[in-house]
Amino acid sequence: MSSDHTSRAVERLLDVPADPDSVETASWILRGMSEAALFAVAQSHAIEPLDDAVGALGARGRRGDPKFAARLRELRTILGPLPSAYESLGRDWSPQPRPGPPDTQKATAYCRLADLVDRSGPPPSGQAVSAADGHGRAALLDRDRWRPGAHPTAGVRFVRTDIDPSLAWRVWTRAADGVPVIVLVAEKLTPTVNDVWWGIHNGTHLDHISHLEATGHDATVIEYGHGLLAAESLAMSVELLAGLETSDSGVARVVWEGLVERLARLPVPDVASSPTAEAARNATDQEFTALPTLARAYTTGAVELLASGFHHPLIPVAYRTALVDRWNSLAARRPEVLDALEEAGL
Ligand SMILES: [Zn+2]
Repeated sequence: MSSDHTSRAVERLLDVPADPDSVETASWILRGMSEAALFAVAQSHAIEPLDDAVGALGARGRRGDPKFAARLRELRTILGPLPSAYESLGRDWSPQPRPGPPDTQKATAYCRLADLVDRSGPPPSGQAVSAADGHGRAALLDRDRWRPGAHPTAGVRFVRTDIDPSLAWRVWTRAADGVPVIVLVAEKLTPTVNDVWWGIHNGTHLDHISHLEATGHDATVIEYGHGLLAAESLAMSVELLAGLETSDSGVARVVWEGLVERLARLPVPDVASSPTAEAARNATDQEFTALPTLARAYTTGAVELLASGFHHPLIPVAYRTALVDRWNSLAARRPEVLDALEEAGL
C-alpha cells in the first residue's frame, strides 16, 4: 500500500490553476479526487490521504459539481463504508453561467486545422472490442508510428480492474515506481475508435510520462492541475497531427469527430465556413461544463503549444525535437497547415 503516492496525488490535485473561490476550482478538485480514488482502487494504494483531504475541504467540497462528487463516492465505496465527510460533497452546488468562448484567434486556428482533416471516410464499424481484452495494448503497439517520440509499449504496465467504465475518465497514471500505468476497464469501442483513443491519445500520455521520467522529472506533475493542461494540449496536438498525416479516411474521420467533440465543450466561436465549428454547434458535452480552463487545454491549448514549437517546461528537449520534426515534415507535404495557422495570425 503506497500512502506516499496517494499523498502526492492529493497535493497535486489540490493545486488547481483557477480562482480558488470559484465553483470551477471546487469541481476540478472533486474530479481530481475521483481520479486519485480510481488509481488507489486499481493499484491497491492507501486511501487515507484522500479521506483526510476530503475531510478538510469544508465549504469548497460542497460547492463542487455533484456529478464528480457522485463519481468519487461510488469509487470510494468500493473500498468500504463511505466516511461521512464524502456525503456533503456537491450539496451546495448551483449551476454556473456558461463560460465565454475561447480565444478567437487560437480557436480559429484549431478549426482551420481540424477542417483540413479528411472527414469523408466511413463511420466507424466492425465488432466492438475492449481494451481489457488486450485491444488497448495492441493499439498502443501497432500505432507507435502515429506518435512522434513514441516510447515502447513494453515499458507500460497494464492494470486490470472490474471498475465500472462509467466511473473511469482518465485511465493513465504514473505508478509509485515511475512506470507509466494504464488501467484497463471493460469499455467497448469500435476498432478504429480504439486505435485512435488508445494508439494516439492515451499513447501520447504514456509517452509523455516516459519522457519526463527519463529526464529526471516526477511525471505525477502532468496528472493534475497545470500539468494536466500541458498533457491534454500535447495529446490533442498529436491527434491533430495524426489526423492530418493519415491516408486512412476511416481513421481521419474518427480523429475529426474527436476534434469536434473537444470544441463543443465550450461555446463555439464564430468561425466562417468551418465544418468543424458548425458540427460542434450541434454537439453538447456535460463533463466540462464547470471546467472551462481544462476544456480550453484540449483546443486552444493545443494550438498554442504547436505555435510555440512545443516549448514548455514539461516537454523535455528530445521529445520536443521529435514533435517539431514531425510537424515540420507534415507542413512540407501539406503547406495548407501553415496557412491555417497564419490565417489565424499565429
Ligand atoms: Zn487525455
